[in-house]
Amino acid sequence: SWIVETKNLKKYYRLGTHTVKALDDVNFAVREQEFVAIIGKSGSGKSTLLHMIGGLDTPTSGEVYVGDKALGKLSKEQLAIFRRRKVGFVFQSYNLVPDLNVYENVVLPIELDGKHIDREFVDEILELLQLNEKREALPNTLSGGQQQRVAIARAIASKPSIILADEPTGNLDTATSHDVMGLLKMVARQFKQTVILITHDQDIAQMADRIVRIEDGHVVKAGELDD
Ligand code: ADP
Ligand code: ADP
Repeated sequence: SWIVETKNLKKYYRLGTHTVKALDDVNFAVREQEFVAIIGKSGSGKSTLLHMIGGLDTPTSGEVYVGDKALGKLSKEQLAIFRRRKVGFVFQSYNLVPDLNVYENVVLPIELDGKHIDREFVDEILELLQLNEKREALPNTLSGGQQQRVAIARAIASKPSIILADEPTGNLDTATSHDVMGLLKMVARQFKQTVILITHDQDIAQMADRIVRIEDGHVVKAGELDD
C-alpha cells in the first residue's frame, strides 16, 4: 500500500516575467516502510518535491496524498499539525539548538507540541544511534556525524510515519556518510518508518530500496533497484 502519492504535481515559480517549472507534472508514490532515494542534479526539483510532501510549501496544481490525507484539503492549522506529528525532517545543516544538550534537543519538538515524552523510547533511539554517552553534550562539542545522528534521533522521537531527509550527508565525509545512512536505515526499519531521502551522491543512493531520478522537474526513473 502507498503512504505517499503525488498526482500531476506542478510547482512553478515566477521570477519577474520568467517562469521556473520546478516540478512539472510529477506522479510519484512511496510504499509504507520503503526507503527511497531521490537523486538528480542541483536545481532539478528534489527539494521542491520533498517540501511539497512534507507540507512545507503548496503546489501550483496537483495534489499530494500522505496516508489518508490530501494535503491541499487541509487548513493551515491542520497542515501545521500534520508537519509536527506525521513527518520528521532531517536537513543538511543539522539545525540543533546550540545551548541545549543532546537529550534536550531530541525531546524539544515533543515538548513544544505539549506531548508526553516516552523516555524509554527516547533512550532506545539514543542507544541505537550510539549517542548514549553524549546525552549531556552540547552540539558544538560533537562531530558532524554525531550532530546529524542527533538530528535523526530528534526526527524519529516524535514517532512520525515518514522521515524526509534533504541531503543529510551533504556536510559529511564519505565514511561518516555511510555510517550515518546505515544507522538511519536501521532505526527507520526498527520503528517501521518510511524514509524519503534526497541526495546527489550515487553511492549513498545505492543504500536505498529504490532510486527515483529527477531531471528538470520530471521523474525520469522510478524503478526498483533490482529491475
Ligand atoms: P534541487 O533540490 O534539485 O537542487 P530545487 O527544488 O531546490 O532543486 O529547485 C528547482 C528549481 O526551482 C530550480 O531552478 C530553482 O532555482 C527553482 N527554485 C527553487 N525554489 C525557488 C524559489 N523559492 N523561488 C524561485 N525559484 C525557486
Ligand atoms: P538545507 O540545510 O538542507 O538547505 P534548510 O535547513 O535550509 O535545509 O531547510 C529548508 C527549509 O525548510 C527552510 O526554509 C526551513 O525554514 C524550512 N524548515 C526546516 N524545518 C522545518 C520544519 N520542521 N517545519 C517547517 N519548516 C521547516
